[in-house]
Amino acid sequence: MAHELPPLPFEKNALEPVISAETIDYHYGKHHQTYVTKLNGLVPGTEFENMALEDIIRKADGGVFNNAAQIWNHTFYWHCLRAPAADNAPDGDLAKAIDDAFGGFDQFKEQFGTQAANNFGSGWTWLVKKPDGSVGIVNTSNAGTPLTTKDVPLLTVDVWEHAYYIDYRNARPDYVSALWQLTNWDFVAKNFAG
Ligand code: MN
Repeated sequence: MAHELPPLPFEKNALEPVISAETIDYHYGKHHQTYVTKLNGLVPGTEFENMALEDIIRKADGGVFNNAAQIWNHTFYWHCLRAPAADNAPDGDLAKAIDDAFGGFDQFKEQFGTQAANNFGSGWTWLVKKPDGSVGIVNTSNAGTPLTTKDVPLLTVDVWEHAYYIDYRNARPDYVSALWQLTNWDFVAKNFAG
């Protein structure tokens, strides 16, 4: 059972000017595709050959884990994004959970940006729902993903340099703060509702 590159949930220029079509060409068309190609090269003849992607992530380590988790993380990331919108913000139960955890949406964005800036090297910054139902921010390194923990991923930002270097060069904080225009809060709220 070969894994496939899932379709993007938007046109490749839909995120402009925040994220360019050129970034999508490389990030989705090259990086994301390469994780799929590599996983398909690694699993034949192993216990993972006919396993669903999420099961591979929970059971594998090494290169199989890295490529499987990067496929999943990127698909999740694309679904966290949509065309730029002014006054883009969560509402309802999700907004209340963010207010309860961080003291307000602006404070949440500031703390998320600080965590993303301090995520050393390559990785991901996540908003998660913890087992007690509250929300929190976690960083993972390289291919790390909350799927291997008890936390439920709600929102992620890819902080690997390949996610922002074409559009923002080395300025990761500028990329992260610009991304709030693109956040698909409907997707995040659906994840929060479970
Ligand atoms: Mn990436």
